[in-house]
Amino acid sequence: MAGEPQDDCLFCKIVAGRIPATIVRESDTTVAFRDINPKAPTHVLVIPKAHYADAAELAAGAPEVAADVLRETRAVADDEKLDSYRIVFNTGSGAGQTVWHAHAHVLGGRGLEWPPG
Ligand code: C5P
Repeated sequence: MAGEPQDDCLFCKIVAGRIPATIVRESDTTVAFRDINPKAPTHVLVIPKAHYADAAELAAGAPEVAADVLRETRAVADDEKLDSYRIVFNTGSGAGQTVWHAHAHVLGGRGLEWPPG
């Protein structure tokens, strides 16, 4: 069920401390950790602690937590001293989503092309 921890969810396991991650920030409702396969010098994922499958489900089910996630992306950018950065929510397999727990990618530290592939 949306919002409830899922036993088979990788990011729920990171929230629970059951698998390791390099955590850079934590709030009451969010965790931010370095992507294990970085695509830029800074590549941090900001996730809600509660389980929502994707950004759309998060926005519909817990808009206040979606706002917390966005606020934390800004905090990550500040911590990493990024002037320019990109926030990405891959939503759906056709857009490259591979982990079904909502997450914002914060990418920066190099030039980023537009449009993305
Ligand atoms: O948007 P997408 O679902 O593809 O992003 C999932 C991200 O989670 C990937 O960038 C992947 O490298 C990252 N990941 C991670 N730690 C894990 C498993 C996946 O940072 N243990």
